Amino acid sequence: MIIALSGGVGGAKLALGLSRIMPPEDLLVVVNTGDDFEHLGLSISPDIDTVAYTLSGLANREVGWGRHDETWSFMETMEALGGDTWFRLGDRDLALHVERTRRLRNGESLSAVTADLCRRMGVGPRVVPMTDDPVRTRLLTDLGWLDFQEYFVHRRCEPVVSQLQFQGAGAAKPHPAFIAALADPALEAVVICPSNPFISVEPILAIPGVRDALMACKAPIIAVSPIIAGRAVKGPTAKMMTELGMDPSAGTVAQRYADLLDGYVIDHADMAEVVSIDARVTLAQTLMTTMEDREALAKIVVEAAATLRRREMHGLRHRRVP
Ligand code: GDP
Repeated sequence: MIIALSGGVGGAKLALGLSRIMPPEDLLVVVNTGDDFEHLGLSISPDIDTVAYTLSGLANREVGWGRHDETWSFMETMEALGGDTWFRLGDRDLALHVERTRRLRNGESLSAVTADLCRRMGVGPRVVPMTDDPVRTRLLTDLGWLDFQEYFVHRRCEPVVSQLQFQGAGAAKPHPAFIAALADPALEAVVICPSNPFISVEPILAIPGVRDALMACKAPIIAVSPIIAGRAVKGPTAKMMTELGMDPSAGTVAQRYADLLDGYVIDHADMAEVVSIDARVTLAQTLMTTMEDREALAKIVVEAAATLRRREMHGLRHRRVP
């Protein structure tokens, strides 16, 4: 069994690769919900939806969000009526939000709704929200505190970020399947996907109990860098690092996860950083453009985990002492 910690686009790409090189039911994808928000009366979980659409083959791979077979009558009509259109909701996507919202209002948990909708969409791996409790990422910017989607979508990540906050995280309980899997002797690896550390992975790590359970987990923890040659493939990861006073690099991401990491996969382009990284580094092609890229990177991660497990058997664990 493998656990993958994921945000949206970058994480979902590697989760898809993993799901294609192992029995999908043995993969547990734990997804950030700090991006979740309420909009037009709907409960929207962007990272869960990106992961679900990606794993079911329904995702729009060009834009990186939403579905590939989308139509836009709802948005066009909203626009004509003078409604809010800054958050694009395609017609088919809308059905998912309407159905989720209805079921949450009927008292079902986010994880129960997610599990059932994923099954209906044909998602193989188990997908669980990091928590069923509300957590909302907020950012302190040059425009003041902004809700996540206000920053990310409405203002296109343009405001300068100086601080982040995961509202509700302190009172949230991690998803029980996540904590149980971390203690399962069958667990082979925890993979921190190439997601934005600040807004996709750290909200998961901010939930009380998660860090301790990761530290105690016997399987190796391996991250894949979302930064290649000082740049993010997509999104504000590198921009945020600069604004937060950090050098945008693969090494900086490793430092964010410092005490957790046994292994770290970085791009060949970042070979010079190996010496500065305090984990067992594997060099790889980490840009996932094709399906083959996703599968190849997933195989490298799984093999790196196997190597770490073998080293541990010989008393050569790199760093984290459970
Ligand atoms: P979001 O919630 O949709 O922003 O998605 P994530 O946090 O999961 O992913 C954003 C991060 O994924 C960015 O830092 C990107 O650089 C990274 N990313 C996207 N595609 C790739 C890829 O093919 N390879 C690697 N290594 N990183 C990627």
